[in-house]
Amino acid sequence: MGSTNTNMTERRMLLPFQAVANFFKKPSGPKCPECVSVIIDDACPNLDCPLKVTEWITRWCSPEALNIPGLGQPEAEQLAKLGLVLHPGELYGLSPGDWARIEGVSADQLDEIQRQMEGSKSPKPSALLHGLRLPGVSANMAKRLIEEIGSIDSLQETKPNRFQEIDGIDEAMAFEVYRWFRDSVNKQALKMLDQIGFNFTD
Ligand SMILES: [Zn+2]
Repeated sequence: MGSTNTNMTERRMLLPFQAVANFFKKPSGPKCPECVSVIIDDACPNLDCPLKVTEWITRWCSPEALNIPGLGQPEAEQLAKLGLVLHPGELYGLSPGDWARIEGVSADQLDEIQRQMEGSKSPKPSALLHGLRLPGVSANMAKRLIEEIGSIDSLQETKPNRFQEIDGIDEAMAFEVYRWFRDSVNKQALKMLDQIGFNFTD
C-alpha cells in the first residue's frame, strides 16, 4: 500500500447525474431517523449514515474484534454524529480537541481508551477482518476467510467466484465482499490503518 499521508477521509460524492436524478425524484416512504435518506429494503442505503458509522466503530471496539472496551456505544455515537470519524482508521488520528467534544469522557477514561487503542494495533488477522465489518462476515466467517484465503491483502485480490467456493458464502455475499474492497471509503480506511501500522499481509 502507498505511503502518502492522508489526514482526511474524502466522503463519497454523488455523481452529477445522481444529483440531478435526486433533485427530480420525489422521495417517498419512511426515512432514516438519522440522515433522512429514504429507507430501502428496511435499511438506510446511505453508507456514510452516522448510524452505520456508529455500528462500525462499535464492532471495531468489540472484544471479538480490536477489543477497545473503553470506547463504547455512547462515545461511538457522538464521534459519528459529529462527523469526527467515518471509519475506524480515523479513530487513531483524533486530537485532544476532538476528544474534548465527546461528552461524558473523563481524563482517566480517555487515557484508558488511548492505552487500549495502542494495544489494539497487533490483532489476529481474523479479529482485524471481523472489525472491518464486511457484509455478512461474522467472527466465525472472518476466521474461515483467513483460513481459506490467507490474509487481508490476499482477500483484496480474490475474485467473487473463489469466495463462493467457501462454505456459507452465496453468490450475493461473494459479490458484496468483493465490492467492499473496491469502495472508496473502505479503501481509504485500509490505507489509513496501514499507515498506522496494522498488518494486512500475515
Ligand atoms: Zn441513515
